[in-house]
Amino acid sequence: MARDFAADIADPIAREIVSNVGTWVDKEVKPQASEFEHADTYPDPLVKGMSDMGLFGIKIPEKYGGLDLSFECYAGVCIELARGWMSLAGIINTHVLVGYAISEYGTEAQKQAYLPRLVEPEIRCALSITEPDAGSDAQAIKTTARRDGDDYVINGQKMWVTNGHKAGVYLVMTKTDPAAEPRHKGITAFLVDHDVPGFIKGKKFEKLGYKGVETTELAFDDARVPATAVLGGKEGSGFQHIMSALEVGRINVSARGVGLAQSAFDDAIRYAQKRQAFGKPIIEHQAQQIRLAEMATKIRAARLLTLDAARKKDSGIRSDLDAGIAKLFSTEICQEVVLDALRIHGGVAYSKELPLERYYRDAPLMIIAEGTSDIQKIVIARSLVKDYPI
Ligand SMILES: Cc1cc2nc3c(=O)[nH]c(=O)nc-3n(C[C@H](O)[C@H](O)[C@H](O)COP(=O)(O)OP(=O)(O)OC[C@H]3O[C@@H](n4cnc5c(N)ncnc54)[C@H](O)[C@@H]3O)c2cc1C
Repeated sequence: MARDFAADIADPIAREIVSNVGTWVDKEVKPQASEFEHADTYPDPLVKGMSDMGLFGIKIPEKYGGLDLSFECYAGVCIELARGWMSLAGIINTHVLVGYAISEYGTEAQKQAYLPRLVEPEIRCALSITEPDAGSDAQAIKTTARRDGDDYVINGQKMWVTNGHKAGVYLVMTKTDPAAEPRHKGITAFLVDHDVPGFIKGKKFEKLGYKGVETTELAFDDARVPATAVLGGKEGSGFQHIMSALEVGRINVSARGVGLAQSAFDDAIRYAQKRQAFGKPIIEHQAQQIRLAEMATKIRAARLLTLDAARKKDSGIRSDLDAGIAKLFSTEICQEVVLDALRIHGGVAYSKELPLERYYRDAPLMIIAEGTSDIQKIVIARSLVKDYPI
């Protein structure tokens, strides 16, 4: 009998939901994940399963038809989804993150227009910050939104947009005042519907991993949106709104690191008991015991850090420090654990018949997405300094 992965979830309702998602992952996701992954096809039946469980409305307030569950529950769900297939936790990530931004910072009209539809399977969300010349330095974006009567006209190029083709609504970071100092005061976020004239969906990237979900280029060529599309209705707050929403994204990516590492460990410890070398199962060689013990210790620490960051976010305070620490640690150990799982499997790990090679290709995204490890360290250090005034 496998360990109860939901046991660390404090709230009983959340624990039951995470446990149910885990059961679904074992039954529906694990047997099919590699097939969808190798074909690089969007996993419609699995996304439908997630939708049937209400997961796309997990953070939408009840008033708008969502489940309104805790971040602790969300983190647990994402760990479980990634334990089955990392891409599933990616499909839900920008959706939940944008839903959170609308719930927290949207006008009442924006909440009514979007939130009930986000619970439904038809409407997915995408977040579009990154550009050809601006990634970690998000304030260097060049996409502009110019006021024109009751509208804004958006021009610019975006890249690396997850859910870029399938989304119904995009949270887009633009500059309404490119000359503003400090730069963030000139940044405004827009809610852009998928069918706005002049909004062009570009090519889909061929990726190392993170398959099944599309990541694309986008372009805005005099795309005209009404002034009511400004998130929160006020120019100049976009950077702050998106940075706050990225804390939710960092909890998600941290959880993905835990789930993926857990899956690699589960496979490795089973294999180590079956595979014989020098007359005994390899798990009886002390070097492998030490390796497995170190893997398990790292995963346990990452799991607890992730849930801790989620609980901090539940308490309503800014949690960039905790989300940054969790994301940094979980994603870095994920790399290490996945590589150790490969070592334990030996040559067979290199075969596409086992999911190990998928884990190995999926793991690096975690140290890049939602801010690289270098950027997490900068966020952590900046936050720590505030706690130590001199
Ligand atoms: C599969 C995938 C999906 C993605 N999905 C989305 C999405 O949905 N929406 C979106 O907006 N973006 C998305 N991204 C983009 C992602 O957020 C960026 O790739 C990431 O933020 C890094 O930016 P960059 O690629 O421009 O790297 P750069 O910013 O060019 O960084 C390159 C290197 O320089 C380092 N570096 C940069 N600044 C510093 C510094 N101050 N100090 C020390 N080192 C530094 C970085 O750590 C990195 O090692 C996605 C990316 C990928 C690969």
